[in-house]
Amino acid sequence: MNANMIFVSLLFFSNQLFSQVSECRVTECVEHNALPLVTVKEQTNFPENVPMYSEKDYVITFCQQYAPSYVSLIQTSYSSPNNWTVYVGGVLKANDFNAQKKEDLIDEFESIIHESTHHKNASNGFLIDPSIYLVLTDQENQIADKFFKSDLIEKVVSVEAKEQLFRYKTYVSKQSNVGANVNGIVGLMDEYSAYQNGCTAALIAYDNALKNKDTALAVTFFKEALQTHYAYYEFNIFIGAYVKYARLYNPEVYQQILKLTTLRRAYSLNTQRFLNSLQAIQTAQTRLKRNYRDVKFLIDYYNTKNVTFAKEYMKNFESDLQALKSTP
Ligand SMILES: [Zn+2]
Repeated sequence: MNANMIFVSLLFFSNQLFSQVSECRVTECVEHNALPLVTVKEQTNFPENVPMYSEKDYVITFCQQYAPSYVSLIQTSYSSPNNWTVYVGGVLKANDFNAQKKEDLIDEFESIIHESTHHKNASNGFLIDPSIYLVLTDQENQIADKFFKSDLIEKVVSVEAKEQLFRYKTYVSKQSNVGANVNGIVGLMDEYSAYQNGCTAALIAYDNALKNKDTALAVTFFKEALQTHYAYYEFNIFIGAYVKYARLYNPEVYQQILKLTTLRRAYSLNTQRFLNSLQAIQTAQTRLKRNYRDVKFLIDYYNTKNVTFAKEYMKNFESDLQALKSTP
């Protein structure tokens, strides 16, 4: 028996420039007994004369060990799990992240990278990887501000797809009030960048854990990446549908999208990085050897439930996605 559950987190940036609901994360977990226990933890008191490490310091130390290239992102844009509002099955989850506990760091690692990417992207850009951050020009921002909301794509998306695509309702339906809907294609690209970086960082951590011969930890990081890897197909559908809708029903916006060089580069580069991550997932059998059996069930599960349909449905938007890609 597998317990299915959905986590939806909403992060409210206190930053005035970004004060609307800008964040929404959906993860699905199919592992047995995976429902997190909500417990009240005691306040840990530091002994006297021991240097005080902040929560961020503990996260940086952990990141240094497993995904060192992402330390710079944590340093500039750290987003704490204790600042997120997380609902599990509609119930508010307590903010009880404790950075001194390794299991908390492991459990939240990919989400921390995802949310920190949003934090970074809030300064008008898109993170590709920790060394590449593309910033929209003022002119591009002014153009994109007038674009339509993403929920209009319902006109070019089938009823079946709206039901089958796990992240549709949360990000692009009429009920959705998150950045991916409200900010149109720029919001979609922000979310695409966050999923890509989170998934990539989890796979870097998996790789390093394997190099340290810690297979159990490698499997855990790998499962985190699996839970989000198919966002690749979903966000390509949302972005492709946005471009298709513009081409068919709003030619003026369509022409403007094609002029947004930064956005198009962000799409191309994030796609390359995301495809590298999908490739790393596909070679898991070679790398995990006999431990592959620990993840095979989950791979099959996501393939059946999410990947097969989304991958096939994405073909409807292939030509529009190609048109969006920037020419090198
Ligand atoms: Zn997000």
